Amino acid sequence: MRIVIQGVKHAMSEPSVAIRLRGLTRRFGDVLAVNGVDLDVLDGEFLTLLGPSGSGKTTVLRMIAGFERPDDGTIELAGVDVTRVPPYARDVNTVFQDYALFPHMSVQKNVEYGLKVKKVPSAERVQRAKEALESVRLGAYGDRAPSQLSGGQRQRVALARALVNRPKVLLLDEPLGALDLKLREQMQVELKESQRGVGITFVFVTHDQDEALTMSDRIAVFNEGNIAQLGTPTEVYEHPATSFVAGFVGTSNLLEGAAAEAVLGRPGTWSVRPEKIRVVAADALPNDGEHAVPGTVREVVYVGMSTRFVVDLAVGGSLMAVQQNSEMSTDLSHLRGQQVQLVWDARHEYKVAD
Ligand code: ATP
Repeated sequence: MRIVIQGVKHAMSEPSVAIRLRGLTRRFGDVLAVNGVDLDVLDGEFLTLLGPSGSGKTTVLRMIAGFERPDDGTIELAGVDVTRVPPYARDVNTVFQDYALFPHMSVQKNVEYGLKVKKVPSAERVQRAKEALESVRLGAYGDRAPSQLSGGQRQRVALARALVNRPKVLLLDEPLGALDLKLREQMQVELKESQRGVGITFVFVTHDQDEALTMSDRIAVFNEGNIAQLGTPTEVYEHPATSFVAGFVGTSNLLEGAAAEAVLGRPGTWSVRPEKIRVVAADALPNDGEHAVPGTVREVVYVGMSTRFVVDLAVGGSLMAVQQNSEMSTDLSHLRGQQVQLVWDARHEYKVAD
């Protein structure tokens, strides 16, 4: 009895780990593509591997899937070491950007295909494929041919084709990369909703920071084969751990060296996000707890919902500020060349490692 109670307590207090990577390393000749990655992906989590081209995201994903062998390190799925297990024997499915549906098969048959290969009986196959199509809101499209669908709908069929296998883990490698921006944004929301609905662990690779911020429970920011920061979208955006993260996720807006000393009275490199900075008159007095720095407006860019200012600071360097266009008259181009002050709440400054 005691053992059961302890077991229950344990399960409730710690979410279980779906994927555990330890010291994962992969070289291609002289290139160290993945350099000792440690990562725990939790059960039911939507975790994004975000980073620039060549930072090692895809190689990590391919190692989890089993398509690529690590030179060093281990991969556990649900607590079992699968480092040497072939791809087909791992409880994961992968959705790629070029999802190649079978053109001569109906949508329903495309989704059933994997189950057919696994010799799942026909009636069960039909039922499961229907459910998978419904989970991506394509329940009414089973009889269509792939050519009769839009790009976004085809991508959803590809997702249904993976979901029908009921994997514990779904790996997605830039699955929205081929879609235009509008459709991509719509699919981001839909994909996140589907994931919440089915409760499967998703590991999603992208180099698009907006996509990562929109969809993820947590983001692992990759740089040169390693994780520069792991955190929730808010943590990564509001508290970037390094100047690389500050620059890659959002706009790099750094106060460093002499400028940091002069404005903040502290050495080091500090990040302030553009939307936290107000552009005010040169003689305005800052409130308690605010920092202010004088400068000259170099650029004023109207971008619809907001206006972006680039201001050259009197102490050297420049900062970007973004202001919402909530007033009727939002043409602020006359500020170009003007002396202003940039003001922000000191709580919005974060020290970043170099
Ligand atoms: P992208 O967003 O461009 O796909 P990525 O972050 O996914 O980039 P990877 O594809 O994992 O990066 O590549 C990491 C590094 O390993 C790169 O320098 C790449 O050129 C190299 N690399 C990847 N696969 C191979 C391979 N099969 N042979 C040789 N080098 C490779």
